[in-house]
Amino acid sequence: KEMVPRFKEQFELNDYKLLCKVGEGAFSKVYKAVPLNTTIAKNHKHVAVKIINKDNLHEKEQKEDSNVGKTTTRQQVLKEVSIHKLISSNCENIVQFIEFKETRSNYYIVQELLDGGEIFNEIVKYTYFSEDLCRHVIRQLGLAIRHLHSMGVVHRDIKPENLLFNPIAYQPNETPKLRKSDDPNTKVDEGVFIPHVGGGSIGIVKLADFGLSKQIFQTNTMTPCGTVGYTAPEVVKDENYSMKVDMWGVGCVLYTMLCGFPPFFDDKIDVLTEKISKGQYTFLKPWWDEISDGAKRCVRKLLEVDPHRRYDIEQFLQDPWLNSFDCEKVAQQ
Ligand code: ADP
Ligand code: MG
Repeated sequence: KEMVPRFKEQFELNDYKLLCKVGEGAFSKVYKAVPLNTTIAKNHKHVAVKIINKDNLHEKEQKEDSNVGKTTTRQQVLKEVSIHKLISSNCENIVQFIEFKETRSNYYIVQELLDGGEIFNEIVKYTYFSEDLCRHVIRQLGLAIRHLHSMGVVHRDIKPENLLFNPIAYQPNETPKLRKSDDPNTKVDEGVFIPHVGGGSIGIVKLADFGLSKQIFQTNTMTPCGTVGYTAPEVVKDENYSMKVDMWGVGCVLYTMLCGFPPFFDDKIDVLTEKISKGQYTFLKPWWDEISDGAKRCVRKLLEVDPHRRYDIEQFLQDPWLNSFDCEKVAQQ
């Protein structure tokens, strides 16, 4: 595990003791930390501190013109924080925001810690997931997105790196506890035994990283943000459909979990762009042979090039495959 940052930085953040690095992104490093402030420590034994270094930020901004969409300015950090604050309460599938601090050299976004880390690493570790495990993960992502969209917010960076989880441990000899969710749309299968992952399992899944998020609608009025009266019709229509970008992301994540590789890939960026814009993906043999028609149908409804025809969040949560979790069948495996 990597060293904690220089003494100076740690000194600046005197309410937390940084322990070790748990992840990083283009502009940030994330550390596991102990809160020293008693009010926070009462609810959180550990937290995750996302540190965005101001010098790094400005250096990278100047060097990497190619980093479009990821150029993080002060405004953008503040936007990430305000959106995260807005949406992280009242949804158990969104990483909880704790507090924001700014010093001379850094921004600090303090959040609840998710011990399991990224779903991305689990896919790498297990190659691919069983359909039941996919359902368990993707339904929770769906619940996070439903909350986001109901608040007028689009995430715009849905990927397995931004999906974090807490593991549930069970003893290898223990009889798995099975629980049938009463309402699959609102209940999370926490504690349900999911086959395929031995020795531990993926429990609660939470969506993180609001760095690219955008608030499209005012929550109270559900009108587009900005000067409403002067907005052109195509912009209003566009904003209605912009929620669908997250659904495409869900499709990519689901595809990847089911088979172990992403729906679109190419070394050459222009070829990749072309494939995506035409929706050119296949259920590649032999990897997709064993995967059910229901799962494929669900992927197809999400990876629909025309946003009008693509599943919205409610349609996705009603998908027959998503709702066909079968405890009896799982018990026999
Ligand atoms: P960026 O905007 O730079 O991509 P993220 O917020 O996605 O930053 O964080 C980068 C990485 O740090 C994540 O992909 C994950 O591995 C880790 N991470 C972020 N937040 C947490 C958290 N709350 N708990 C555990 N790990 C986290
Ligand atoms: Mg990220």
